[in-house]
Amino acid sequence: MKDDLKKLLLMQDIDSRIDRATAEMDEIPREKLIHERELESQKADYEKEKRKLEEIKEFSANCYENKEASEKMLAEFKNKLLQMKTNAEYSAMTEQIEFVKKKISDLDIEILEKMYEEEQGEQDLVDAKKIWERNTKRAEKRQDILDGQLEVLKENMDKLMTERRDISSGIGKRLLDKYEQLRGAGRGLVVVGLQKGACGGCLTNIPPQTAVEISQGTTFVCPICGRFVVWKDDSSMAGV
Ligand SMILES: [Zn+2]
Repeated sequence: MKDDLKKLLLMQDIDSRIDRATAEMDEIPREKLIHERELESQKADYEKEKRKLEEIKEFSANCYENKEASEKMLAEFKNKLLQMKTNAEYSAMTEQIEFVKKKISDLDIEILEKMYEEEQGEQDLVDAKKIWERNTKRAEKRQDILDGQLEVLKENMDKLMTERRDISSGIGKRLLDKYEQLRGAGRGLVVVGLQKGACGGCLTNIPPQTAVEISQGTTFVCPICGRFVVWKDDSSMAGV
């Protein structure tokens, strides 16, 4: 195999590592975003519980106010009852009094119900806060780990890019251009081994005589896929 091609193989290996590192680097912001969204949703849950509790308290306060007003009214009506002159007036006032008493009793039931709801609401709020806080801490820790990983990946990437530059400077321009063109077209590996007498990239059979030449170090460009077919450690002839 020509020196150029050996270097190209080496560069291909570096490029594979660059691709893996790039994929890992891309994965980090994606994971961060997942954590952020999860926290946002837990914060929203907490705020929902908070609003719910506020509404219960507001409703409860209204009930108390209503009850107070009704009690005042009841006292007034009881006073008025003493001043009633006719039976009809008396009985109308008694009816009013019964109505207000019923209202107060209904309010008492509602106040009691809201007390239970408030107790449950307080507990739900504490639970929602706990979940949110616990996950915030967990996400912060994970964020630190991810930041650390990103640093390592960046350093690694810098080294790979330097290695790539060094190697590519020793490869002929035409070969390099062809490599970049194939790689840019998303063909995956550009330099492939002869495998069972076929191109290791597209599996097209290669004439036996050409296969022998490849095994002796000749570089062959596959007429079908355009990849460089070389003899590698795991290469083999047809029928082997
Ligand atoms: Zn091919």
